[in-house]
Amino acid sequence: MNPLYQRPYFFDAGIRFQCKRCGACCTGAPGIVRVNEREVAGMAAYLGMSDSGVVDAYLSPRENGYRVREAPDGRCLFFESGCRIYPVRPLQCRTFPFWFANLRSEARWEAVRRECPGIGAGRRYTRTDILDILQQGMRLFTKASSVG
Ligand code: SF4
Repeated sequence: MNPLYQRPYFFDAGIRFQCKRCGACCTGAPGIVRVNEREVAGMAAYLGMSDSGVVDAYLSPRENGYRVREAPDGRCLFFESGCRIYPVRPLQCRTFPFWFANLRSEARWEAVRRECPGIGAGRRYTRTDILDILQQGMRLFTKASSVG
């Protein structure tokens, strides 16, 4: 059994979350959003562009894949009055806010909760749901080219 599932967490009773699409996590302070080749293809199909067109317009190379470029103010280049690729957004975006970095302490989670109005709303993610999502995200950060 995975040791990740063996210990208690502050979120053992679950956490409600539903993205309000406010854009707070897509704008402001700079950050790295990783994108793999499969995700590029999904974005290209959704936007009616070629894969190389998406790379040229929105991405820059990073390790085994890409990262989304940002405007000078830190805004994700896909964010224009909302996420332009929401149904096909990268796994890193889809797993927010249930990232290891956010859940490593209750204090850190409180800070994220203050920034994200979706936390506390909508469906309750169970402890197992959250740990499964955490595992997905951890694979993303250790093997950027094979997720999606
Ligand atoms: S800050 Fe929260 S509610 Fe707003 S877009 Fe990001 S995930 Fe959704």
